[in-house]
Formats: sequence, C-alpha cells, structure tokens
Amino acid sequence: MSNGPLPREPANLPPLREVIARHGLGARKALGQHFLLDLNLTRRIARAAPEISTGTVIEVGPGPGGLTRALLSEGAHHVIAVEKDRRCLEALGELAALYSGRLEVVEGDALALPLAEVGTAPRQIVSNLPYNISTALLIGWLTALAGNPAAFSAFTLMFQKEVAQRLMAEPRSRHYGRLTVVTQWLCEVRALFDIPPRAFTPPPKVTSTVVALRPREEPMAPADLGNLERVTAAAFGQRRKMLRQSLKPLFARCEETLSDAGIDPTARAETLSVEDFCRLARLLGRAKGEAANPPGT
Ligand code: SAM
Repeated sequence: MSNGPLPREPANLPPLREVIARHGLGARKALGQHFLLDLNLTRRIARAAPEISTGTVIEVGPGPGGLTRALLSEGAHHVIAVEKDRRCLEALGELAALYSGRLEVVEGDALALPLAEVGTAPRQIVSNLPYNISTALLIGWLTALAGNPAAFSAFTLMFQKEVAQRLMAEPRSRHYGRLTVVTQWLCEVRALFDIPPRAFTPPPKVTSTVVALRPREEPMAPADLGNLERVTAAAFGQRRKMLRQSLKPLFARCEETLSDAGIDPTARAETLSVEDFCRLARLLGRAKGEAANPPGT
C-alpha cells in the first residue's frame, strides 16, 4: 500500500442517511446495531486512533460505514472492515469503490475470525462495538495478545460506559474484577470521552465511552493466561468471601500458600493488585507442577 498523499473525501460521497435509506438498513437489535451518524463524533474517534496511516486498521462492525468513512478521510491507508450483516455489504462496496484500494470489506463473524492475522502489521482495531458481544470480542483479542504482545498495536473501542469502568477500575472499587485484571495485565487503558445515547440511531439505553487500549511491550508481570483466569474466576466468583475460602478449590494448603506469598489469607479479591493475581497464577502453575512456567516466575 503506497504512503503518498491521500485525497481527503471523494466529492461524490453520498450522505450517510441516504445510504441507510437506499439500502434499507433499519437497525437490528440482535446485531447490537446503534449507528453513529454524527460526522464530528466519528471523526473524533478516528482521530483518537494512533498512526492510522501505517499498517492495517481493522474495523469491526462498520454497518453503513460512518466510522469507516471517518477513518479513510482521516488518512487510514488500509482498512479491513468485518461485518456480519449482509445487508450492509452493498453500501460498503460502494464506499470501497470510492476509496480505491484502501477499504477491504470482509463478510463474517468477528468472533470467529483470527483478526491478529489479517492484513499486515502493525494491526490496530477501531470499532463502535456491538455491545452484546463487546467483552467476548475483547477477551479474544487479549488472548491473542497474551500469546504475542505484538499481535495488535492499539485498540480504540467504544463500549457501554459500565464496561469501560470495569476495564479501568482500581482495586477496592466495585467495578474491579476479572476483566479489569486481564485487561490491565496486558494493556494500558485510558477513557477518552463519553457519547450520550441521543447521538446514536436508534439510541441505546446507556451512555457509551470511547476507550484507548495500548498493549504493553510485555505483560505487567509474568503469568500464564489460563492460570490467571482460574485464580481470578475463583476469587471474584465469591468476591465477598476471604481468599482463604474462595481459593480453597485451587490450592491444597490454601492459607499457608497465601501467607508464604505475602498475601493476607483474610483479604478479599477486590483488594488484590494485578501483580498479586499474577503471583497467585504463578503459584497455581507451580502447584500443578507445570514444567513450562513463564520465564522469571
Ligand atoms: N460502525 C457503525 C457505526 O458506528 O455506526 C455500526 C456500529 S453498531 C454499534 C455494531 C455493528 O457491528 C453493526 O453493524 C453490526 O451489524 C455489527 N456486528 C454485530 N455482530 C457482529 C459480529 N459478530 N461480527 C461482525 N460484525 C458484527
């Protein structure tokens, strides 16, 4: 893909509302469709994504193409847009024709596609996510990052505000939980701005937040993802209970193991830091006699 100067916006780009009407793209709830038609907001999201003129920008769920247009007009050289709703493909095809060679449209389920392998690196994901599957999608991308910290260079994603709060939560807060630990273990997380329900067609019930996730060069501390998931699931599955109780199913001599690791057995899950959970994941790896613990454990 060439890195020469890009034409901004094609003169013959039809208004988004006209595209939606012409292709009969009434929003479908089952697909989490809440379209963002305000050009100022789509541009703001596109501008928040770092260095879109290099590598591949993957957009999940372009729908009628509002954010896609913004990414292209803000200078993305190569956008791969993955959309499950076949009704949108013709409209997206028209957009691809106007931005010759810069937009590739893929029909498919983003949950099932190995996005860490599409296009060329560096790969980043920018999306107004379908809310019903936003955490499942994120967990899939985090799993890819756990195996390869260079799998993705950045994520600029819109979530329900409540999910964004979970991603950014600090210990001792009610939003702190499994998703927080695994996300912060692998990424730096920053909330960029909120978008009110009225900005979408149709409006969702809740406020949305655009979040920037930047993968760390290395995870915050050594740990195996599977073991980290096991300890966080056990600890937060019974978050009101003391760790010596909630982690009992995982460790034969639970109280002793926790004390030896410098973790108070009477503490509760939400008081532990991400590093503490990594330590517990390493202890679990040892308790299971895993030969291949990650280096530095
Ligand atoms: N990007 C558009 C915008 O900002 O107006 C639409 C965003 S809408 C919140 C979510 C989009 O994700 C819809 O177009 C929906 O069809 C699509 N979608 C839902 N589930 C999907 C999946 N599993 N894989 C790919 N796209 C999906």
